[in-house]
Amino acid sequence: MRRPIIAGNWKMYKTREQTRAFFEAFLPLVQNSNRAEVVICPPAVSLDTAVQASAGSTVEIGGQNLFWLDEGAYTGEISASMLRDVGCQWVLIAHSERRQYFGETNESACRKLVAALNAGLKPILCVGEVLEQREAGLTHEILATQFQAGTSQLAVEQFANVCIAYEPVWAIGTGRVATPEIASAAHTFLRSQIAEKYGKTVADACRILYGGSVKPDNCNGLMAVPDIDGALVGGASLNPQSFAALVNWRS
Ligand code: PEP
Repeated sequence: MRRPIIAGNWKMYKTREQTRAFFEAFLPLVQNSNRAEVVICPPAVSLDTAVQASAGSTVEIGGQNLFWLDEGAYTGEISASMLRDVGCQWVLIAHSERRQYFGETNESACRKLVAALNAGLKPILCVGEVLEQREAGLTHEILATQFQAGTSQLAVEQFANVCIAYEPVWAIGTGRVATPEIASAAHTFLRSQIAEKYGKTVADACRILYGGSVKPDNCNGLMAVPDIDGALVGGASLNPQSFAALVNWRS
C-alpha cells in the first residue's frame, strides 16, 4: 500500500513572517489528518523558519533545489547536507521551472538525485512534457527519456527512496489541469518504465505524484486514480485553507 504524499511547492513566494502565519493557520486544520504525508517546500531563506514553525507536527519540510557537490566555490548554491542541516527531509529535483529557466538537464537531475540520496534526503524527481510535445504525440518518449536519463546513475536500492512527480508543463500554473484519464495514462506508463528498469516490486512501491493546477475542486477525481499517489501543488499550497482542503481530501 503506497501512502499518499501531498507536497506544496511555494516557489518564490512568502517571507519568513508569512511563513509563520501560514503554519499558524494551517496546522490546526490538518492536525487530525494522517492519511497522507504532508511536505512543504518554501524558498531557501525560509526553510529554517518553516522547520521551526512545523516542529511538533507531522508536516515535513523540503528544499526546492540543491547543488550536487557538498561545499565549495559555487556562489548562490546550497548543498544536500546544508538542507539536512537546516532540518529538511525532502527535496524537489528538476522541477520544470528549473529546467525551463535555469538550464537543468536530465544529467544534472541525476547528479542531484545521487547527492540528495547520499545525504539522506527524500527526493521528488519532476518529469513532464510541454504542450508541443504532447500535441506531437511525444509524451511517452519524453517521459521515458527524463526518467531513464534522470536515474541513469541510480542502483535499485537508491531508486527505492525516490518519488516521482508527473507534472505536464502545460498544466503548471495555468489552471488547465490534466484530466484523470490523461494523468492516469502517464502514471501507468511511468510505472511500467520503473518496472522495466528496477523490477515490479520497486515499481509497485514507488510513489508517483501528479502536479499541475491541482485545487480542492479537482483533487478528488485525480486522487481516485489508482496510479496517482498524491499531488505536488504550487498555487493552491500558498493558502492554508486550500492546502488543508487538499490534505483532507475525500476519496
Ligand atoms: C508546481 O509548481 O509544481 C505546480 C504544480 O504548480 P501549480 O499547482 O500552481 O500548477
